[in-house]
Amino acid sequence: MKVTEHLERAAGPLISFEIIPPLRGGNVGELLTLIDDLVQYRPPFIDITSHAAEVIYEETAQGFQRRVKRKRPGTLGVCALIQNKWDVDAVPHILCRSFTREETEDFLIELRYLGIDNVLAVRGDDSGYQKPLQFGRSANLFAKDLVGQIADMNRGKYLEDDLLDADASDFCIGVGGYPEKHFEAPNLVTDVRRAKEKVEAGADYIVTQMFFDNARYFEYVDLCRAEGIDVPIIPGIKILATRKQLTSIPRVFHVDIPVELSAEVEAVAPERAVDVGVEWALQQSRELLDRGVPSIHFYVMQSSRAIGRLLDQLTID
Ligand SMILES: Cc1cc2nc3c(=O)[nH]c(=O)nc-3n(C[C@H](O)[C@H](O)[C@H](O)COP(=O)(O)OP(=O)(O)OC[C@H]3O[C@@H](n4cnc5c(N)ncnc54)[C@H](O)[C@@H]3O)c2cc1C
Repeated sequence: MKVTEHLERAAGPLISFEIIPPLRGGNVGELLTLIDDLVQYRPPFIDITSHAAEVIYEETAQGFQRRVKRKRPGTLGVCALIQNKWDVDAVPHILCRSFTREETEDFLIELRYLGIDNVLAVRGDDSGYQKPLQFGRSANLFAKDLVGQIADMNRGKYLEDDLLDADASDFCIGVGGYPEKHFEAPNLVTDVRRAKEKVEAGADYIVTQMFFDNARYFEYVDLCRAEGIDVPIIPGIKILATRKQLTSIPRVFHVDIPVELSAEVEAVAPERAVDVGVEWALQQSRELLDRGVPSIHFYVMQSSRAIGRLLDQLTID
């Protein structure tokens, strides 16, 4: 079922999770345990991230060697597993970067065969690798272009112009939104206009980047509504779990950590940072639910420990 149908039919707010496929050669058993733990909280859908190939320079006897590596394959397999083993809707993330439009079309066809109705279309970050476009291949530059390709397929328009009477897909399309603006955008207003372009291209809902100050989310929603964006805007919440994340989260995700949160984390022993993070995210979640959000999306990634502690204390009605 589509994410938007879940939202429309729900009697109350929903919760969903985002997980990451294991590293190449990683432990599938740990992934299965993670999903087992998460499904106890009855998420209507689970997102699975997607990862572009990266350029890596390795020092060898011959000097530095340039290698292209895709460290985390498996998005499609994990989606198939979630959908078929646990009967939970899987939302694979699809990227512009490191995939040609032709590969994207093939991926979408695989999803259709698997009965997967949802995708989250994002551009992907610069991994240093640019796929060579040979033999007339093409690439999507921005998420809006990727959304357009999926929306075209939903209208029965595939990449081959001479493919007449092709079977139309019916994907529900999610996109990313940035309450603290995307780091490349000149300002928040321009970034919201870009988000509107994604909706006009066919996006059905927005999931936000993580934020640690709810005021940023509420302001973002107001700005989006003023710009005429009328699709659901699902807040994304991450539990800060280590002291190191006080610097890594702003560096990687370009979001602020409020002074009170960083001060509280610094005031406790490093192993208790997670206690502070769980309590902070719990208060955020309670306020979001009180203010009537349709759903909360938790960035779980690889471990259910912190989210389990939060959800065991959160009343959702
Ligand atoms: C919910 C969510 C899930 C994510 N999942 C993944 C994942 O699975 N894998 C992964 O690698 N990354 C993921 N990301 C990260 C994402 O790929 C990066 O943030 C990326 O840098 C931007 O992606 P986007 O889809 O928002 O890009 P876009 O919407 O294309 O925007 C990127 C930048 O370009 C600007 N822009 C847009 N259109 C134009 C235009 N026409 N001209 C000039 N500028 C323009 C925007 O303002 C913005 O600054 C996720 C992000 C979110 C919020």
